[in-house]
Order: sequence, then C-alpha cells, then structure tokens
Amino acid sequence: MPVDHILRGLKRFQKKVYPKHRELFQKLALQQRPAALFITCADSRIDPCLLTQTKPGELFICRVIGNIVPRYPESIGGVSATIEYAVGVLGVPDVIVCGHTDCGVMKGVLNPEALKPLANVTAWLGHAQPAREALAKSDGGLSDAEFLLALTERNVVEQLKNLHTHPAVAARLEQGSLKLHGWVYHIGKGVVTTYNSRRERFFRVRTIKPRKTKARDGGPARKGAKR
Ligand SMILES: [Zn+2]
Repeated sequence: MPVDHILRGLKRFQKKVYPKHRELFQKLALQQRPAALFITCADSRIDPCLLTQTKPGELFICRVIGNIVPRYPESIGGVSATIEYAVGVLGVPDVIVCGHTDCGVMKGVLNPEALKPLANVTAWLGHAQPAREALAKSDGGLSDAEFLLALTERNVVEQLKNLHTHPAVAARLEQGSLKLHGWVYHIGKGVVTTYNSRRERFFRVRTIKPRKTKARDGGPARKGAKR
C-alpha cells in the first residue's frame, strides 16, 4: 500500500534523520529566514530541496500546477497570498519561478479539449494562454517536443512578468532589494536552464568547478582539507 511506504518513511525520519539534525530543527521551531521564494509546479517529480541541495528553512516553496502566478489583482488566492507573505513579510531576497519538462499543464495548454471536463484546471490553464499566444507569434517550424519546451520556457517568462503586478514584489523591485529568476528543470537530464532577460533566452546553469587550493610549502594539498 503506498501510504504504508510513506508511513515507513516518516518512522525512518523520526528515528534516524531527526536525531542527526536535532539542533537545526529546534532552531527552526521558532523562526525561519528563507533565502528564496521558490515557485514551482506541483508535479511529483520535482523536489526543490533535492534539486538545490538546500536544507529545511532555506526555501519558501509555493507549489501550484503549471508554476503559474496569476496577475494581480485578477486572481487573488493562495498564490498571491504566498507571494505577499514571502516577499513582504519574510523579505526573501530572491524569487525563482521553476518550470519543468514534460509538464502536464503545458501539454494541456496545447490540447485543451482533453481537459474540458475539468472546470478548475481549464480555468487555471487560462493563465498560461498568454505564453501560447506569444509563442504562436514568434516561433514557427518547431517539432512537437521543441514547441512544448519553448512553451514551457515562455510560460516561465510570462509568470515572471506577472510577478511584477503584485504590489509587494513591485515595491521590493523598486527598492532594488529583490531579484527574479526564471528556471526550467529538465527532469531526465538533471539539468537546469535559467532565463537571461538581456538575451531573452534560457541558458544551462554552468557547474561551478571547485577552485584549486594552493598547497602550502609547495607540497600536495591535503586530502579532504577544508576549503
Ligand atoms: Zn508541471
């Protein structure tokens, strides 16, 4: 039974993981100071903390299908409240909107007929229509897979634009104390591409190579030496 598997995981957490990180959890019991608001799809294949190797308390996560940020004040609800709290109260310095490959919502935007019986999903997909319209104008001759990826990327760009309509975000951008980032996570490759607004394209995040440490006295660097 799937839930048994989940409960076994919870037991393992309490027995093995919690005791190892007791100090961190006790500190987090009374406060949080997340480094970023991470807005991503509810898709089960995305694990923001695994992907970014962050610990509890480091990411304030907003999960919503299609990683959609409705324009303010057209659709006040959970997403706008989460943004307001993270940006206006917690004062996160960065907001990341992270789309992903093989997104069911993006496929739904391309094939809305299949989702018609789902009234809520269909209404929600409306927020991704500007991405499709923008793409229809600019990109021709793409294969289906290329079009889906281009739509996924464009959708992230549109949601970044929508973020600007939220008063808490606009105020912090005006102060120069907030940065917005657009990502696409390529699930099968473990790759993330990020949006470069100057070049209007997504580029692969370069892996930062660890700097070579100069060995003292000309000898070899100690193995496992702290950098
Ligand atoms: Zn998705």
